[in-house]
Amino acid sequence: MAKMIVRLLFATCLTFGGLVAVNAAAPPEAAAYPWSRTLSQGMSGSDVRELQIRVAGWAADSASQTYVAVDGDFGPGTTAAVIRFQRAYGLSADGVAGPQTQAQLNALEDSDGSTRNFAWSEFYSKDGSGFSGGKVSSTQVRENVRRLMYKLEAVRKKAGNAPISINSGFRSINHNANVGGASNSLHMYGVAADIVVSGRSVSTVMGYAKTSGFSGIIRYSSFTHVDSRVEYPYGSQSWYWTS
Ligand code: ZN
Repeated sequence: MAKMIVRLLFATCLTFGGLVAVNAAAPPEAAAYPWSRTLSQGMSGSDVRELQIRVAGWAADSASQTYVAVDGDFGPGTTAAVIRFQRAYGLSADGVAGPQTQAQLNALEDSDGSTRNFAWSEFYSKDGSGFSGGKVSSTQVRENVRRLMYKLEAVRKKAGNAPISINSGFRSINHNANVGGASNSLHMYGVAADIVVSGRSVSTVMGYAKTSGFSGIIRYSSFTHVDSRVEYPYGSQSWYWTS
């Protein structure tokens, strides 16, 4: 909601404010991650980990049960994901995360730590408990949702920037029970979402998810469930894609 208000204000200023006012009123770009070096294969560190989180949705070229390990070690899988990210955003595709790539990564980050096209509130438990009341701490839920958002940014990009609706993101234990969720539902950890991509069939969305590092992909009649079960020790850690 806050983002929408900022955008409305921005649009208003565009209409009435003239160029100087537009610049003054433009929403601040992300409180971006403070990249301090060009990242390439063989490096390691917390900045590599942040890079991996941001390119995790670019895990494969075609349907493949693989994901980008968020381990802080820049290996071949990270290089391949960076190359796919660079291609998707029209950058020089060399697999090295330098200033231009880092600027594009920053453009995907919002000042509140969420991503450009998603808001934290879209993932809140629908019983009003925010990120609380789940199977892990609210801090952990938030971090899990952040990683989920970056994968969904990739899905959105693969869909030609079609907007994505989050039917269900995080669920508190109580809310999960009230909506008849499975007793071990990954929604209670913040690593799952039920999504609808505007103008795209469930089958098409499942196709996007299958190149985006999602290890759980489940077809429903009007939406797609995606999760990252293999990456997290919260339940089954076997790949589970329905046909
Ligand atoms: Zn679900």
